[in-house]
Amino acid sequence: MSKTKLIAGNWKMNGVKSYVEDLAKPLAEFMNQKQCESTNEDSYEMLICPPFPILDRVVQIAGESKLMVGSQDCHTAVSGAHTGDTSATMIKDIEATHAIVGHSERRADHAETNEIVKAKAAAANEAGLVSVICVGEVKEEREAGKEIEVVSKQLEESIPAGATAENTVVAYEPVWAIGTGLVASIQDVEDMHKAIREKLATMMSDFENVKVLYGGSVKPANAKEILATENVDGVLVGGASLSAESFIEIAKSATC
Ligand code: PEP
Repeated sequence: MSKTKLIAGNWKMNGVKSYVEDLAKPLAEFMNQKQCESTNEDSYEMLICPPFPILDRVVQIAGESKLMVGSQDCHTAVSGAHTGDTSATMIKDIEATHAIVGHSERRADHAETNEIVKAKAAAANEAGLVSVICVGEVKEEREAGKEIEVVSKQLEESIPAGATAENTVVAYEPVWAIGTGLVASIQDVEDMHKAIREKLATMMSDFENVKVLYGGSVKPANAKEILATENVDGVLVGGASLSAESFIEIAKSATC
């Protein structure tokens, strides 16, 4: 089934004030300009997820353009005694639209379990955000041929009740491909995305409409092939989203 591709950028812990002007602004201008063009209008949407200190500024820059802005995490609670954390309600309050949850770097650096990821996704959805739930196997799991088993379990345990295609995006990111320059083969991407769709079919009635993104060393040179793969509804991009030029090039690779 063909749908509008989602081109999402995860800036990770990169982004000081100057990124607002130098990176977010050209992307907002590009999306504004795209809105005025009659062709290719609906082939892709663009989302960027900057770090918290500049999130509000980036939302302001995105303004009325079609550039969407999200966070890289959220807390499970609405408010309270959680020093240093940010709730989904606060993220929604500044008019961001998405929250990445369960990125492998958070699973590893902050010991986030599937249970925590599920609670974060539920909190994001309850606040009115779209949760971008990340899953993916580590190298040893793939080498042992357990990647589909691992990812299926992550989906089962990380997707909250009430998740729909409207409030949930799934990002498949093989951990060994993140920031390493290694990319899963197209066949591997196709097989995993098919398995994810089948798993979603057991969990969500509108599973066909759920966007399933691929992430892991996506760049302009490989984006077209990845985006053309069956069941790939977009990409989650780290390193290459830190240049407006390369991120726009990746977006332009998308066709419905
Ligand atoms: C990511 O951070 O989600 C990611 C996929 O990073 P990179 O594109 O740099 O591999």
